[in-house]
Amino acid sequence: MPCRRARSRVRATALKRKPAPPRPLRASPPMRLGSGPSVSAPPAVRAALLALFGAGAAQALDATRVVEHSLYARLHARAIATTRRRRIYLRGAAADFFADPALMLHEYCHVLRQWEPGALTIVRYALEWLRRGYWDNRFEVEAREFAEDHLLEFRSLLSRGGGWEPRGPALTARRRT
Ligand SMILES: [Zn+2]
Repeated sequence: MPCRRARSRVRATALKRKPAPPRPLRASPPMRLGSGPSVSAPPAVRAALLALFGAGAAQALDATRVVEHSLYARLHARAIATTRRRRIYLRGAAADFFADPALMLHEYCHVLRQWEPGALTIVRYALEWLRRGYWDNRFEVEAREFAEDHLLEFRSLLSRGGGWEPRGPALTARRRT
């Protein structure tokens, strides 16, 4: 299609002539889709999670990466976190996530009890979401109930383990997926 080619030639010329703009100063952390740097659970959190999920979860837990300031999480409307197999994508900082026991339980439930055994897949989640929406879909119900049922125990495990301090305002009042 000549028109398109002609246009792209003009555009290429224009781009070539235009000097590259100066690099903007980084005012906020870079957004990462998932391939950028990420962290795993700090030792105190890891120990408490293993006490809850069982030693059999160690391999999956250690392989699970928490990606902060993730563009992928930001693509999920109002979500503050979203998960895939062995991945937790955060809209914000990992430090805030690891200071929020209820949010950790919710997201690690998705990863360790749903994604890891293959119960949760993108297709299954999408079908549930179409049938029941966010709040009532079975994956969210299970993660929510798991977090509620184990919150006191998890808090106690975290405190006992030492090296863990809650900080900042709780994120859990906001939506999570
Ligand atoms: Zn969820």
